Amino acid sequence: MDFKLSEEQQALKEEFQDFFSEEMKNAPPEYGRGGAEGVYATEEGFQFHKYMAKKLGERGWLSRPWPREYGGVEAPLMEQLIFNEVVASHRAPGVDSFGIGMFAPTLLVGANEEQKQRLLPPLARGEAFYCQGWSEPDAGSDLASLTTTAVKDGDHYVINGQKTWTTGAHRADHMFLLARTDPDSTRSRGLSMFNLKMDYPGIEVSPILYMDNKHLYNDVFFNDVRVPEYDRIGPENEGWNLTRATMNFERSGAGVFTAAKRTLQEIIDYVKTTKRDGKFLSENAVVRQKIAKLFIDTEVGQTLAYRITWLQQQGGLIFAASAASESKVFGTELSQRMANYATEIMGLYGQLEESQWAPIEGSMVTLYQFCTGMNIWAGSNEIQRNLIAWVGLNLPRFK
Ligand SMILES: Cc1cc2nc3c(=O)[nH]c(=O)nc-3n(C[C@H](O)[C@H](O)[C@H](O)COP(=O)(O)OP(=O)(O)OC[C@H]3O[C@@H](n4cnc5c(N)ncnc54)[C@H](O)[C@@H]3O)c2cc1C
Repeated sequence: MDFKLSEEQQALKEEFQDFFSEEMKNAPPEYGRGGAEGVYATEEGFQFHKYMAKKLGERGWLSRPWPREYGGVEAPLMEQLIFNEVVASHRAPGVDSFGIGMFAPTLLVGANEEQKQRLLPPLARGEAFYCQGWSEPDAGSDLASLTTTAVKDGDHYVINGQKTWTTGAHRADHMFLLARTDPDSTRSRGLSMFNLKMDYPGIEVSPILYMDNKHLYNDVFFNDVRVPEYDRIGPENEGWNLTRATMNFERSGAGVFTAAKRTLQEIIDYVKTTKRDGKFLSENAVVRQKIAKLFIDTEVGQTLAYRITWLQQQGGLIFAASAASESKVFGTELSQRMANYATEIMGLYGQLEESQWAPIEGSMVTLYQFCTGMNIWAGSNEIQRNLIAWVGLNLPRFK
């Protein structure tokens, strides 16, 4: 199989690379090494995210794969993969993973014409920032058991309940929400999806500090929050099918393997320049074996990402659902293996985060902690393995 880019694709990649190389010079120190921490942990980081989103919007790069009538150029999925890889290799912000990555494609699949005309342009311009209001204290893996209610009152719905672990809710200006519109319903029947603004009266956002004490995640409480009926996406009580489509958008990302390659390169540079007992770490047989194994994994992961893009191009996102689960499990656990190996190689230095003695700017201990959440969010890895078994391998499904 030939993975070489065409001349056009190569030129596009260079255009993206030139842009990000230049613009990333504007990153404030608080943005650090990017990712969710860079974007959500500090106000400066989030302002840089907004700045980059605006720049990307001006170029039309946030909406490239969308239909032309909504501001896109119907770019092939392979071009989107190239874009995502360049973004990841620069650890760049600007692409709102919830708004652009999940809600926009959901709107394209399930919103009415008025909603598409109203909600897509601000996303394409990089002016709207979303969070995802799905999980609740008693509804995570078993999302269909959620209890937040949306009760019809004239031309509004009144929302009451609680969402939890809501990433970036303290920075986002919008949320896409899943709530129960039929109070007598159970499980997945009777749920609806909503678009809402985070400054509506009755919304309270309360921080959940992560194990490293950073503020990325939140509890969100709804107390008689009124959402206009025109912001219900899709038919009433039929939000579950739309939610399942959104889940696939959430899991199909390819950037994680590009990011892993960049991190691995930093680990390689570290072992080549660091001596232990008078010898460079790169001369140690165990270190070399471990790094070679990680390298193989990044190559496998990247090939998997290319396969998913190809599958999606053939038969759509649902067609590639099992492969997207494979990618989610493999990518998140690869990041974890990488952080584990790196901190192990670094010994006690690997536990330092802010110190002149902290290798690779203390990034491995940060990654070590961050990865724990990656295995849980977007559907835990156990759930992904179940999906691979049922959908991908046709094994029996247990209730
Ligand atoms: C860092 C982080 C960020 C998040 N961001 C968001 C966000 O922005 N928006 C949002 O809506 N949610 C978010 N979540 C919530 C996330 O989607 C849920 O935590 C996840 O779905 C798991 O649900 P739970 O925490 O209730 O665990 P549970 O569902 O209670 O699961 C507990 C354990 O049991 C396992 N388990 C459960 N059911 C099965 C089964 N059938 N088979 C095998 N094993 C099973 C799980 O894998 C897990 O190990 C985030 C979570 C984290 C940790």
